[in-house]
Amino acid sequence: MNDFINSIQEELQILKEKRNFRSLPQLIHDKGEVVVNGQRMLNLSSNDYLGLANDLSLRNEFLETLTPQTFLPTSSSSRLLTGNFTAYQELEQQLADIFGTESALVFNSGYHANTGILPAVSDIHTLLLADKLVHASLIDGIRLSAAKCIRYRHNDLSQLKRLIEENHNHFDKIIIVTESIFSMDGDEADLSTLVKFKQNYSNVLLYVDEAHAFGVRGEKGLGCAEEQNCINDIDFLVGTFGKAIASAGAYVACRSVIRDYLINKMRTFIFTTALPPVNVQWTSFILERLSSFQEKRQHLLRISRKLKEVLTCKGYVCPSVSHIVPMVVGDSKDTILKAEELQRKGFYALPVRPPTVPEGTSRIRFSLTADITEKEIDELINSILNK
Ligand code: PMP
Repeated sequence: MNDFINSIQEELQILKEKRNFRSLPQLIHDKGEVVVNGQRMLNLSSNDYLGLANDLSLRNEFLETLTPQTFLPTSSSSRLLTGNFTAYQELEQQLADIFGTESALVFNSGYHANTGILPAVSDIHTLLLADKLVHASLIDGIRLSAAKCIRYRHNDLSQLKRLIEENHNHFDKIIIVTESIFSMDGDEADLSTLVKFKQNYSNVLLYVDEAHAFGVRGEKGLGCAEEQNCINDIDFLVGTFGKAIASAGAYVACRSVIRDYLINKMRTFIFTTALPPVNVQWTSFILERLSSFQEKRQHLLRISRKLKEVLTCKGYVCPSVSHIVPMVVGDSKDTILKAEELQRKGFYALPVRPPTVPEGTSRIRFSLTADITEKEIDELINSILNK
């Protein structure tokens, strides 16, 4: 036992020396700001992309729809037992309607979705072709599956095309796995080209995680697949409610037969207590209004572009085309110093270090939200320019 404690202490010490040690921050939320150690800062690290989590009038409106009888804070069971409340079926029908897909299935989180779907639908005769930069939850899903996996270089579609050509005869099926907006670089996958690739074969499927795009992109807020006009060409269209939708949970929009299959095979769906119905109702409430947030989406894109332009002019690598705007510094220590400096100036921007990003690409990751004003972005820009 002591050997174990000694060894993990040593490991933590190494993380500290490399300045990669993590601890939980003590923070208080106050509208779009956070208070950390008594210091009030603009929150530039939230996933509340549409600024809905702080909208009290929305919250009040929702609360008015509830009574003590309809406010259900727990489902007390998994959905296959007694946890399948009407709120779930209504949300899934609503999702199928807005996406125009045959069906949809709701999960407890994006992490449950990504770690559950891939193992459920693949076996040793499956090849997963995954972008090098997919999120940890997708990597864990790949690890849990029996499939063979090859990671292609980030957004390198010629390499992907070659891998499909070389392998499609050797496997029962190939699943291409990508995000639409990538969580650390804020750049975007070319979904319509991916769709063209898969349409050349009868055994190639496409899995797209829209975690950072759902709510934010497309005229109705349905994500990059809406923007690139290919919703119905994606076999597993996944997204989360924990970011722009200001709720919790996740979905896949898919064919009915896939939904039936997941209900029967997906362990992270079957073996967990369903989300509280009140949370599912709140998600439905937000989704009813999703298409009306177009001004927020446009504002978010405008301020994001402004920040990216400044970073690029300053010589920083910034591949972003979205509201996730990284300022790639390189070295972890330098990145932390820069983040601390921004925090001293009132901007809560956080450093992202290995293993979350590859060695040598530590960065400050600005995660912008629609309630950040033009004036606040200008202040941030000034403080970046004047240092
Ligand atoms: N996919 C991606 C691309 C993500 O960035 C995240 C969360 N950071 C998830 C899935 C997980 O979603 P959730 O937070 O709902 O578990």
